[in-house]
Amino acid sequence: MSEYDLVIIGAGPAGLTAGLYAARARMNVLLIEKAVPGGQILVTDWIENYPGFPEGISGFDLAEKIKEQALALGLTIETAEVQGLDLSGKIKKVILKNKHIKAKSLIIASGASPRKPGVGEDRFMGKGISFCATCDGPFFRDKVVVAVGGGDTAVQESIFLTRFAKKVYLVHRRDELRATKILQERAFSNDKIEFLWDSVVTGMDGVYGVEKVNIKNLKTGKASEIEANGCFLWIGILPNTEFIKGDVKTDEGGFILVDNRMQTNVPGVFAVGDVRDTPLRQIATAVGDGAVAAVSAEHYVESL
Ligand code: NAP
Repeated sequence: MSEYDLVIIGAGPAGLTAGLYAARARMNVLLIEKAVPGGQILVTDWIENYPGFPEGISGFDLAEKIKEQALALGLTIETAEVQGLDLSGKIKKVILKNKHIKAKSLIIASGASPRKPGVGEDRFMGKGISFCATCDGPFFRDKVVVAVGGGDTAVQESIFLTRFAKKVYLVHRRDELRATKILQERAFSNDKIEFLWDSVVTGMDGVYGVEKVNIKNLKTGKASEIEANGCFLWIGILPNTEFIKGDVKTDEGGFILVDNRMQTNVPGVFAVGDVRDTPLRQIATAVGDGAVAAVSAEHYVESL
């Protein structure tokens, strides 16, 4: 069983940046990722608020660049799914399917996943229901689609969908968007987007895939139906913490609580990016978290 100075769980921008800093500091570090490195930015079409790219950059290209830089500085990335953690001793154990990995310190960078509304979407997954415009938008060329949510993701991705769809109904439960003003302005001036305010999706129907989406107006109680082939769900995110099981303190929503060094309540265990309780979930803040946590982990290991 190998023993690392630091094991990082998750290869989104926060985890990759932590890995980059730790590898550059010559720590004995391993990053574990269950899927493709990049995290949620892989499903983001275009990023225009990450400094250094005045023209913007695709989520895929930015993920590739951060990964390449981390690998060039000596980071090792292993593909595996973490099943659990044993944080009871000074040396932490990361439990994988076929082995345990020992580490003096851990950085949890496992990110967050889309929240599901529970209105029958499982039946139509891949048959009209999607959480990713970049992945599935091109399937809806000249079709009508419904998008749900009022945050940055719903508004930004709805605008992207208008490249393909002939009409996007954006369904939001209030009469005001949560998304940042610049995105709101773009959505309001896009004549392919029609807003359905104070409304929620209550179900969907179809034979081979989504054909109809059921809507309810929360103010009037009126039910209606939209003939649409796609329904994109963007109603927020939930932390990916299933493997942690109560050792690490979280807020009510399950997001991990940390101090300003990204240290959790467990000494030597740090949390960064979207999985932590944070006022802002951006790539810029995620990479900042990663840098702070790597340096904190380095100091922690030196103090042992
Ligand atoms: P979010 O900001 O939490 O927004 C979720 C939206 O879904 C809210 O408008 C919320 O309505 C609505 N909602 C929540 N639960 C619902 C339910 N059960 N039924 C119907 N509607 C529901 O989530 P997000 O848009 O995925 O963004 C996540 C984080 O990533 C945010 O911090 C965001 O700023 C960041 N992000 C940034 C960018 C960017 O900078 N370009 C792009 C994407 C994401 P209420 O408004 O009524 O609560």
